[in-house]
Amino acid sequence: MPDAKDDFKVETWNSKPAKGSAGKTGLWRTFRPVINHEKCTRCEICVLFCPEPCIELDQEDKSHKKGKIIIDYDYCKGCGICANECPQHCIDMIKETEFLKDEEKEDK
Ligand code: SF4
Ligand code: SF4
Repeated sequence: MPDAKDDFKVETWNSKPAKGSAGKTGLWRTFRPVINHEKCTRCEICVLFCPEPCIELDQEDKSHKKGKIIIDYDYCKGCGICANECPQHCIDMIKETEFLKDEEKEDK
């Protein structure tokens, strides 16, 4: 007779950002999280804490043996929770206006 524990399966999954009634929440972001990939250990704490959730580990990326953490900026609302929770302190919250300055320079 099979042991009851053999039938017990635990399934976990991460929900993915999707187009909803709130639209692309990244449109109203004022701070952008930027990861220092050199310091990142791929612990995925940020993935767990992101409320959207719009951070994931891209295991296909070959720049590191564990892959690369990527942020979907279409849905990142800039709350900063990932930066607060990162044990390596390798996520900086940068004002969006800083990126606008860079884009303006590129247009010239
Ligand atoms: S919490 Fe920090 S160190 Fe961990 S995966 Fe995210 S960015 Fe990398
Ligand atoms: S700033 Fe907030 S919404 Fe954006 S990636 Fe970090 S935790 Fe997620």
